[in-house]
Amino acid sequence: MSELTASLAGSADIQAFLDGIVRTVAEHLSSDVCSIYLYEEQTQELVLRATRGLNPTAVGQVRLKSGEGLIGLAMKELRPICEYEASSNPHYKRFEGINEEPYESFLVVPIQKGIEKIGVLVLQREQRSYFTSGDVAALRAVAAQLTGAIENARIFLDLPGLQQAQKAPPAQLVARVTGRVASGGLAEGFAAVQDPARSQRVLGSRHFPQRYTAEDFRRAVERTARELEHLQQQLQQRLPEMASMIFSAHIMMLRDPAFMDEIGAAIEDGTNPPQAVLEVGLKYVRLLAGSPHGYIREKAQDVQDVVKRLVANIVGQDDRDLPSSAAAHIVIARELFPSDILKLACTGVEGIVLVSGGVTSHVSILARSLHVPMIITEDPRLLELPDGTHLLLDAEAGELLVRPSQAMVERFHARRAAVPPTAPTVKTLPKTHTADGTRVRLLANVNLLSDLEHAQRLNAEGVGLYRSEFPFLTGATLPSEQEQYLTYRRLFQRMPDKQITFRTLDLGGDKLLAYYDEIGEENPAMGLRSIRFSFRHAETFRQQLRAILRAAAGQKLRIMFPMISSVEDFEQASHTVTECAEALREEGEPCCQDPALGMMIEVPAAVGIIDALARRAAFLSVGTNDLIQFLLAVDRTNEKVASYFTPYHPSVLRAVARIAAAGVRHDKEVCICGEMAHDPRCAEFLVGIGVRTLSLDPQHIPAVQRHIGTLSLAHARQRVAALLDADTLAEVRQLLAPAETP
Ligand code: PEP
Ligand code: MG
Repeated sequence: MSELTASLAGSADIQAFLDGIVRTVAEHLSSDVCSIYLYEEQTQELVLRATRGLNPTAVGQVRLKSGEGLIGLAMKELRPICEYEASSNPHYKRFEGINEEPYESFLVVPIQKGIEKIGVLVLQREQRSYFTSGDVAALRAVAAQLTGAIENARIFLDLPGLQQAQKAPPAQLVARVTGRVASGGLAEGFAAVQDPARSQRVLGSRHFPQRYTAEDFRRAVERTARELEHLQQQLQQRLPEMASMIFSAHIMMLRDPAFMDEIGAAIEDGTNPPQAVLEVGLKYVRLLAGSPHGYIREKAQDVQDVVKRLVANIVGQDDRDLPSSAAAHIVIARELFPSDILKLACTGVEGIVLVSGGVTSHVSILARSLHVPMIITEDPRLLELPDGTHLLLDAEAGELLVRPSQAMVERFHARRAAVPPTAPTVKTLPKTHTADGTRVRLLANVNLLSDLEHAQRLNAEGVGLYRSEFPFLTGATLPSEQEQYLTYRRLFQRMPDKQITFRTLDLGGDKLLAYYDEIGEENPAMGLRSIRFSFRHAETFRQQLRAILRAAAGQKLRIMFPMISSVEDFEQASHTVTECAEALREEGEPCCQDPALGMMIEVPAAVGIIDALARRAAFLSVGTNDLIQFLLAVDRTNEKVASYFTPYHPSVLRAVARIAAAGVRHDKEVCICGEMAHDPRCAEFLVGIGVRTLSLDPQHIPAVQRHIGTLSLAHARQRVAALLDADTLAEVRQLLAPAETP
């Protein structure tokens, strides 16, 4: 495999790279023939691009539609096909003159990236026999390893066709697209498609009729550096705990002698400076974008951004090809990392549309904290929209309007004027009660320190869930104990005298750290995540606990641990807190010595032993997002099964009721901190089963407070009996329905 990867760096050009792959794979898998077919977007055909064993003149000539022949079938159905005697399969398609006849044993595996079809790899042998399951596995591994590099090869081989295609007038691609709301709000702007492959194609095909000088380039570098430093400073002010190094890769590129010298040398050799920036820059982008590691691909986006900025700053006012970053834009992307959301928020993005794949729950959570409307759709056609297309994003209804009519725009403006989503005038009461006087505490979920302002303004009674992992997710390295201490200290300073509940690191799963990316688990949601990650990285866990305890000196502190699945988990985590507190005392460091220790209930196993846990914990907090995911076996990040993710499932209601009852039995607070806490249809049920604390995103506090104010405890208890009796989703929905229209 390393031989294959190395062959990219050593190849003279793309064709030589593909030829190298087929040669190496044929040798290693003892096959007479190895061929690569790549999917060509303009014609929607698979085209033979490299072969070892077939007639070389067939390269570029043999073409198959999706579903045509065994090769087209493998691509269409995205599955490997293995044949003993290929010609006897009814799907087999013969091509004259390519010298395929002698090779009857046949194996084809698709090369795909997410929802994108890239091509297929084919092996053929003369001897009639099936390829072994080992061969199939090996060829699939090769396909997976080479996906990124082959994808790039395809893009560059396709360039001439694409240039043609780009000259055609933009098609009326889509008009109205629906999606799931990840972060509410309304936004209007111009499409900015963030697809590295497409940007590469667009940038790679640019021409600069005007001649620029080395001095223009030097000035552009300085100007770009100033722009980036300004963005970094803005971020520092707005999100101090997250700011560290967000734009570091950008700034580093500008200061990297290898990168800059290579551009300088090309300019000295007579290349027009913007062209030199593109040639050298895109070479780096290709290398990074081909990586199987998310955190390296993330850097490709950064380098591409630097390249765009440099070119724009060289050509200045002449640059009509790049959409102005100052214009209101709605980003459409296939993959976004938490740091991307921060960068986008800094550059004033109006809204985000994520096209399937690559969505982590943290990306949605961040978008909400930053008040950036966002929807997630399954419609890949959006990635083909020309940049600058006028869009209306309704992330309340989960709808995107493409090239809206004047009437649509007017209706949209009227709606936006009527409901400013984060109106500072919304009033809340300091305390929340049901209509018959039962007290319910409303706490805030805090993801970024900037959420605190909202929380305070809306009278949150404390912080019920501080998701401490965000500063870890966007930096290049782990924040030190001192850095964490400073962040946590700000949290206490901004919410003085209020109870603050820290959740210890909830990393792993879909919340991967760039610097631990090598974990690469098969089932990350059920893998080395959350408290298990903290146990495995004991020093990181201790550093975090020390920082929390120090920051909480003299304050009301609660600490809870995520993903607890046994009494032992809770005891081990609690023991580590005690050890850290003792160590700090011995060091004479001021700290909180007696935090209340609780746990998240978000794994079905914890519900099974809920009495044992409730007896030991100071409080319980129900993470319904994960609890629903695990109870119902529905990946919370998978768009395809989103309709199965329902808090109204009878099992979910019964599990939550069981947890609440254990809380009542053991006189321990049960807080709900997942999304269920702000679902108006669930409020009466939660109050009825005895839940008296809810922790929610601050913007939901006014609506939830109002709704609770309409409830009566006696009525809620009656409803609970009926709801817990319901066996079907339909019955539950019907029982909950009246609350939908308060
Ligand atoms: C939950 O799982 O419900 C929860 C609150 O935690 P997170 O969404 O951060 O996993
Ligand atoms: Mg959770």
